[in-house]
Amino acid sequence: MIGSGPNGLAAAITLAQAGRSVRVYEAQPTIGGGTRSAALTESGCVHDVCSTVFALVLASPFLKTLPLAAHGLEFVQPDAPFAHPLDDGTAVLVERSIDATAASLGAEDGRAYRDLLAPLVANAGNLMDALLGPPRLRHPLFMASFGLTAIQSAARLTRRRFRSDRTRAMLAGVAAHSMVPLEHAATAGYGLGLLVAAHAMGWPIARGGAQRVADALASYLRSLGGEIITGERIDTLGQLPSSRAVLCDVTPRQFLQIAGDRVPGNYRRRLARYRYGPGVFKMDWALNAPLRWRARACCRAGTIHLGGSFAEIAESERAAWEGRIHDKPYVLVVQPSLFDDSRAPAGRHVLWAYCHVPNGATADMTAIIERQIERFAPGFRDSISTRHAMGPADVERHNANLVGGDIAGGAADLGQLFTRPVASFNPYATPIEGVYLCSSSTPPGVGVHGMCGHRAALAALRQIPS
Ligand SMILES: Cc1cc2nc3c(=O)[nH]c(=O)nc-3n(C[C@H](O)[C@H](O)[C@H](O)COP(=O)(O)OP(=O)(O)OC[C@H]3O[C@@H](n4cnc5c(N)ncnc54)[C@H](O)[C@@H]3O)c2cc1C
Repeated sequence: MIGSGPNGLAAAITLAQAGRSVRVYEAQPTIGGGTRSAALTESGCVHDVCSTVFALVLASPFLKTLPLAAHGLEFVQPDAPFAHPLDDGTAVLVERSIDATAASLGAEDGRAYRDLLAPLVANAGNLMDALLGPPRLRHPLFMASFGLTAIQSAARLTRRRFRSDRTRAMLAGVAAHSMVPLEHAATAGYGLGLLVAAHAMGWPIARGGAQRVADALASYLRSLGGEIITGERIDTLGQLPSSRAVLCDVTPRQFLQIAGDRVPGNYRRRLARYRYGPGVFKMDWALNAPLRWRARACCRAGTIHLGGSFAEIAESERAAWEGRIHDKPYVLVVQPSLFDDSRAPAGRHVLWAYCHVPNGATADMTAIIERQIERFAPGFRDSISTRHAMGPADVERHNANLVGGDIAGGAADLGQLFTRPVASFNPYATPIEGVYLCSSSTPPGVGVHGMCGHRAALAALRQIPS
């Protein structure tokens, strides 16, 4: 295995469970890729460098079968999955209960929300299996009906189904996780998938930090006999010992460098056309006090989506996609220390946030992000003790898979959603015998679910004799 992100570790576990001996090479001094924690600000403060909310671990058809609790992983469920504050000082609060959420959307949209979400949440297990697992012709009527709704743009779905600006704003916030403009096809599907996860599984954080996810996966892998070597970057396939298979938890651009002239011209040209999406500007703070949201409901939510109205969020996502900096960006905010007291010393708090920016952008977004938070949580700036900022180049230095700051392993629009990294019946296999791709640049794409790695390892096991 090259790379110890959640997909690399899931692939390694799949191989080890099948009785194969596995060794993982990780470039960085610590394991985990997008699931690392670090003391980015002050001693005693645990910050999640990349991912922090783990709905997809609970939704993952593979990870949910692993004994991760026995290997030290504990999830903390905030009172409510997420909130979307508005300029009038109120917020839309998405609760675990569909009824409570629908009730808060009022007469205008409550019923439409329940009608849309209830059947999906009732079939959440099947839906997540279908979205994250290998394509299968199961539950064809249900999946066809979901597909027809999900293939729409978030803009179209909200226009057709909902009347209130509040509901539309909330849907913009959840669909914008896609990092794809909200007028593009299939952005409705991202929003719906995450809403189903919010109601059916919750949007938990990991007690002690994201690193615990990686550590639990690594501990289980070692219990199966797997080996992990850190601080060893693989620059060419020739660096690896002989083995029956090599699985690469890297994106196409790195793969082309690592595999070099062993990649046949046709496949090289196809991989070279792979597109990366917008990047992120990531910030972490140590605070002297928790955020004081104007909308008190936000204090109950694990994740807060900032950006105001549907139109504002749509414009900010379009800007990042088209290469422009927006001065009122959509910002995702999580304050883990509100729900997990192991993250900061008593009386202090840690705060995590990022916004989308053009791929490779060099603009310093610190003041812009802090202004967006201040807009909905006045006094925030006064509570800052230490801040830590990472632009796209810093993010990529932390983890080479985050090309130009792209956290999704490549643009996830309709053109690349199902055909990552190239259109193929076996997208994990490369033309080099025994060499596979298994990062989030393969299906089902972004998120901490391990399914790219698991599915790539199954493909390898099918092709390689024991
Ligand atoms: C700021 C940010 C916030 C995010 N928030 C969330 C969230 O809240 N929830 C969620 O589900 N997802 C989130 N994500 C996305 C999630 O982290 C990724 O989708 C996921 O980590 C992808 O896993 P992976 O195994 O494909 O790759 P990665 O996690 O990127 O791991 C790749 C690993 O390979 C190593 N590597 C790369 N090149 C080499 C080499 N040549 N030799 C050896 N090792 C190498 C890297 O160092 C890294 O450890 C976020 C990502 C970022 C950056």
